[in-house]
Amino acid sequence: MNISPHTIGFDIDCVVADTMSAFIDLARKEYDVTIKPEQITSFQVEKCLDIPPRIIQDIFSRLLEEPLESGLQPMDHAVSVLTALSIEAPLTFITARPTKKPIDRWLHTILGESVYSKINLIATGEHDGKLPYIKNAGLHSFIDDRVPTCLELAENGFQPIVFSQPWNRGKHDLPSVENWLSIQDLFLNHGTKAQ
Ligand SMILES: [Mg+2]
Repeated sequence: MNISPHTIGFDIDCVVADTMSAFIDLARKEYDVTIKPEQITSFQVEKCLDIPPRIIQDIFSRLLEEPLESGLQPMDHAVSVLTALSIEAPLTFITARPTKKPIDRWLHTILGESVYSKINLIATGEHDGKLPYIKNAGLHSFIDDRVPTCLELAENGFQPIVFSQPWNRGKHDLPSVENWLSIQDLFLNHGTKAQ
């Protein structure tokens, strides 16, 4: 695959941000609940974890409203690859989060001023329906961990790339990446290399 940095967009949670690790850490530290990554076999965590829904809701609210304070970290190599890409093209992030401000602040903090000045952040507020935003942003490829989003893109002539996570493995036949070093390889022919 050979993708132009100008035509790709990124989901944030579980692609740029290691939301799963933050969820697991908060569950352990604040609620004394132990969860293993491989237990999260569904995008809807309440379906696969035997934890009171109130706790799941609490943890998600904190990650949505206070991502910095709740310890949300970027995925390994995400910042260096995004930094390299930002030299080639603006960075577009499309998240299903309902509120933009907290994750905007998080992106500002983890990317730093100069990369942040090249971003376009869209918060759609719902898991379904990213397609029109991707279209309007003039993108052709999109990296997401949610299979229905990726399938909708493929059905409409776009190029989805699934970011592998326990809840999407074996559930699709689409191209996928395991980490940000594999994402970097998508642009090899465009000379983009993280330092
Ligand atoms: Mg996601």
